[in-house]
Amino acid sequence: MKNIAILGSTGSIGSQTLDIVRQNPDLRVKGLGAGRNIDLLEKQIREFHPVLAAVWGEEDAKTLRTRTADTGVRVVSGMDGLIELAVMEGTDILVTAIVGMIGIRPTMEAIRAGKDIALANKETLVTAGHLIMPLAEKNHVRILPVDSEHSAIFQALHGEQKREVSRLLITASGGPFRGRKTEDLKKVTVEDTLKHPNWVMGQKITVDSATLVNKGLEVMEARWLFDMDLPQIEVVVQPKSIIHSMVEFQDGAVIAQLGTPDMHLPIQYALFYPERRPLGGERLDFRALKEITFEEPDMETFLGLPMAIEAARRGGSMPTVFNAANEAAVKLFLSRKISFLDIYTIIRSSMDRHTIISDPDLTDILGTEQDTRDWIESRW
Ligand code: NDP
Repeated sequence: MKNIAILGSTGSIGSQTLDIVRQNPDLRVKGLGAGRNIDLLEKQIREFHPVLAAVWGEEDAKTLRTRTADTGVRVVSGMDGLIELAVMEGTDILVTAIVGMIGIRPTMEAIRAGKDIALANKETLVTAGHLIMPLAEKNHVRILPVDSEHSAIFQALHGEQKREVSRLLITASGGPFRGRKTEDLKKVTVEDTLKHPNWVMGQKITVDSATLVNKGLEVMEARWLFDMDLPQIEVVVQPKSIIHSMVEFQDGAVIAQLGTPDMHLPIQYALFYPERRPLGGERLDFRALKEITFEEPDMETFLGLPMAIEAARRGGSMPTVFNAANEAAVKLFLSRKISFLDIYTIIRSSMDRHTIISDPDLTDILGTEQDTRDWIESRW
């Protein structure tokens, strides 16, 4: 029996994690954490019978307590609640399916409590990877990637020696606006942006895929997860999202992981690593597929990727600024207060005004995040 807690159970990754639980009777859900969707959380509590549930707001927690009084679940709230869920007694794995760098503190506390982490929440590693990876090593905790690209690399590296790797090749679909130029992006709407060609995901990551910020976050995530230098990580556009990523070794061999675009596979692989289990769903049909094509990413139009690489190269607190500015800008875009291209303007100007703190600790990271958010709020 493997006991898990899920931070972000009402979201896209969280719900798909629960699909995997439904298929595997030896997985048990002990804790569920969500933001504001208490209707869905209540349904999940009734189906999976966790002992602890966390929500963000205390008012929502009160309502949920009343509604679930017959179930015996304990409902907690706020950051303390998320942390309580992350470190709760009796769990083996914490699935971090929450969106945004709000996941940093619960993830770090879970590692300190010796929980393995099935990590979807890339913003945490992007901003605090230099703290999280050594902490995981110290506490003998495994960070198991859920992001499909990182899972692909993780699978390709299985049984291989890290010193024999020459490059990581992260694939990108190019998003819904692939092939368009800056002029074409001036008037794109929220609806256009949320139409990802291959994946159905939460809103924030879908916008990030359209700006190529997501690919930039993935480069930073890969750097920490696989302990690589930035120049060893390349992005290749592969529009159909069939190849999920590749590893090139020193002898020139390239090992790739392929599959249909379905997050159930990387989630299940993380939960049972190193075991592979049966999983339903569509299979690749190479005769129908006929070809897999590749392109260079358009770094002149989709500034999310080059700005992320710049932030990673400059290091210290700059990735936090990049990430916090993007989180704030995406929120403004989704609430229709700014245009698509303003996302790039906000990230660029936030990075330009920042004086880098080298080797930031958690207080520096959270302080930089707050400062960046406050500055953006005062201007947009
Ligand atoms: P969703 O927006 O679908 O879900 C986000 C989850 O986080 C929801 O359960 C939401 O709760 C919860 N949440 C948000 N704010 C808070 C808060 N303050 N306190 C507690 N819970 C909160 O996102 P995704 O599932 O798409 O993405 C989650 C993470 O996984 C992101 O970091 C993303 O980059 C990464 N990822 C996602 C992939 C995908 O296919 N979706 C692929 C690879 C990585 P509620 O809805 O109840 O408010």
